[in-house]
Amino acid sequence: MKTFYIETFGCQMNAHDSEKVIGTLVSKGYTQVETPEAAGLVLYNTCSIRDKAEQKVFNRLQNFKRDAGKGKVFGVLGCVAQQEGEKIFERAPHVSLVAGSASYTKLPQMLVQLEAGDRRVTGLSLDTDETFETPFTRRDNPHRAYITIIEGCDKSCAYCVVPFTRGPERSRTSASVIDEARRLSESGYTEIQLLGQNVNSYRDPSPADWDFATLLARVAEVPGIRRVRFITSHPRDFVKPIVEAIDANPVLCDHVHLPVQSGSNTVLSAMDRLYTRDEYLRRIEWLKAARRKIAITTDIIVGFPGETEADFNQTLALLDHVEYDSLFSFKYSPRPNTAALAMGDHVPEEEKTRRLMIVQERQRAIQIRRNSEAIGTVQQVLVEGRNQALGQWIGRTSQNRPLNFTGEAHNGDNLIGRYLDVRVTRAGPNSLVGESVM
Ligand code: SAM
Ligand code: SF4
Repeated sequence: MKTFYIETFGCQMNAHDSEKVIGTLVSKGYTQVETPEAAGLVLYNTCSIRDKAEQKVFNRLQNFKRDAGKGKVFGVLGCVAQQEGEKIFERAPHVSLVAGSASYTKLPQMLVQLEAGDRRVTGLSLDTDETFETPFTRRDNPHRAYITIIEGCDKSCAYCVVPFTRGPERSRTSASVIDEARRLSESGYTEIQLLGQNVNSYRDPSPADWDFATLLARVAEVPGIRRVRFITSHPRDFVKPIVEAIDANPVLCDHVHLPVQSGSNTVLSAMDRLYTRDEYLRRIEWLKAARRKIAITTDIIVGFPGETEADFNQTLALLDHVEYDSLFSFKYSPRPNTAALAMGDHVPEEEKTRRLMIVQERQRAIQIRRNSEAIGTVQQVLVEGRNQALGQWIGRTSQNRPLNFTGEAHNGDNLIGRYLDVRVTRAGPNSLVGESVM
């Protein structure tokens, strides 16, 4: 029997790539198993955005070195595969497959090579205008489905490996996206999340020539779809029609993730982010002027080479000004091939840690204040699960906030997948608690 195990690291794009890889393997007669021990083929879909993420796969491979002799085949997929290439065969000689995401369309051929006993199979070319589309996606969540609309990245932020690991930007045709959204709706999905490293840089390659705002509006019109989300938006390509589309159709969720990285113009310019603080804040004004309250979240990097205390203070001032609903913050991690390597890594590790803690504390206070404003409001949630220990249902609002609730009227019902109105009764920094409203 052909069996495989896959472990996925990193972002939502990787998680969704794995869903497609799993679907492809199943269509070729493989069966997924729960542990590497039980599998003939062990795959790691990897992330190399920061050093820590990259190390994880080598730790895993180290653990299973001895299993190679037992006839197991090991494969490294994704960003570390693309970045390290054939060097992985030297570092971990028991690995037989190394393939980056731009080569997944060739996965069926690579499987044939592995099955024929080839122990050095690679898929490392970035020279492609193809996107990975397959009818065989094995989706993890029965209600929310992901659709990658654009792959790769044509920007060149000084700190980032993505252009090297995922290749040039390439969009899917609008017709194939709409078609997939319709099929998902017909098979019972009610929430769609459009994915891309820079989802809003989408440009329809077909003669229809839709821009991102048009695509968003049309996906939201697909009958049966109740929520549409999109992640991640690059500030440079974030145009007003996106806010107008959200305003025009409540199916488009009240949430935009708009990574700023830094509040200092000096750092933004050194990062080659292609916008200034003021240009970024203009986009925030559009979002805040929308008819519905749109939650805004962001990513911050602390300790980029040359970031002074004054630069850092400008990031803190920006957090106070925007009052984000949530954020991800990272210590700058030097990455291979990137322009920032030549700038050195001047901010000491302890200082990066100090700045990270300050950002997180500042943001926590903002979230406590922002979330407490929701107490007393009624919000619609999509029910995602059940926390038996707490006796609560796990829900998520349109603004992407976790809102966990009780509801005696629903005793005995399975609410997962349903949309319910919930009155918020309590708020913490990261989630809300409430009671369902009949
Ligand atoms: N394309 C998105 C954008 O430009 O806003 C971001 C995609 S990136 C995969 C996710 C986040 O990882 C970035 O927003 C950035 O904050 C963080 N990141 C990327 N490279 C990093 C590095 N070398 N060190 C620390 N954080 C990094
Ligand atoms: Fe990386 Fe910048 Fe591209 Fe985002 S826009 S994926 S941060 S290079």
